[in-house]
Amino acid sequence: MSSNTVVADAETMSSNTVIASAETLSEKQGVLNPRLRQRPRIADRRPLLAIPVRPDGSPDWKNRFAGHTTDIGLEGLGLELPQDLNLQTLGLVLSLAGGEGQAPGYLGVEIGGTENAGRDIRHAGGQFTGFAHELLGSENLTPRLNARRWQFEMPYLEAILDQWVQIGVLEPVLWDRVQLCPRCRALPTFRRGCNACGSIHVNNDRLMHHFACAHVGLVTEFEDKGQLICPKCRGRQLVVGADYEYMTGPYRCQDCQWADDELEQVAQCLGCQLRFPAHQAYEQELKGYRAHRLDPLALLPALGPTPAVLAGAALDRRPALCAH
Ligand SMILES: [Zn+2]
Ligand SMILES: [Zn+2]
Ligand SMILES: [Zn+2]
Repeated sequence: MSSNTVVADAETMSSNTVIASAETLSEKQGVLNPRLRQRPRIADRRPLLAIPVRPDGSPDWKNRFAGHTTDIGLEGLGLELPQDLNLQTLGLVLSLAGGEGQAPGYLGVEIGGTENAGRDIRHAGGQFTGFAHELLGSENLTPRLNARRWQFEMPYLEAILDQWVQIGVLEPVLWDRVQLCPRCRALPTFRRGCNACGSIHVNNDRLMHHFACAHVGLVTEFEDKGQLICPKCRGRQLVVGADYEYMTGPYRCQDCQWADDELEQVAQCLGCQLRFPAHQAYEQELKGYRAHRLDPLALLPALGPTPAVLAGAALDRRPALCAH
């Protein structure tokens, strides 16, 4: 056990439970909530590699160790671990073989009670909770919109997540490509507006096209005492479709008098209110991550996919990761 207790970054790694320097894993035994053992577990012995989580959320790859599972349930599993462990937090990311037809993958646990089980062996309970568990959840591996600043942010520091990429637990993915404010990188809204000044106060004239003489003019020019009469050829009793068609004239800006056939996509930043043509937006690729996460439910063929078991699984609101 390290005597150097590092304080986790309060904002990004708040859920990472750090072992205080005076504690030992055995003293953590009393902390285990008995409620968490209510659901049945089935015996399941499979080899695993455990990667301890550092207080800052990064993997402690140097102090990884091998062990076995002893049993598994929907909320946690039993672990058989080496006696002397060098852990700075209660979080472990476990790499273990999948169930039948399931690729190997990872599970995040927080260690609860432990007990000696022989000279070199220690038994521990691991709950599917805490930072190591959350780290593998898809909702924590993709950018979210900070609705106060209207900017995309990762829930955890990329520098930390990239360390999990280096050891193969996470995989970087292109999550999205977005148009942002060129000044402050916040999210804009879009509307069609004036090419010159960006104003939305634009309208266009309604025109009529007389087929017989090819004259095109404002509708008002054709209107004569309740009749439609062509101002050029004086043709009357004009029938829409047969004699004439309506056309849309150029857009005219009421703010700057600019006229044009097309309107521009105009963006306005939700953060700094800058108005700019949409083609000047800053295009940013948003990086996300994918975890090769095992679904505990799939490791439990004996329990079967009964509705009751599925309801238990729904406590963890994440979609099961498909096998890679
Ligand atoms: Zn204008
Ligand atoms: Zn005419
Ligand atoms: Zn802005």
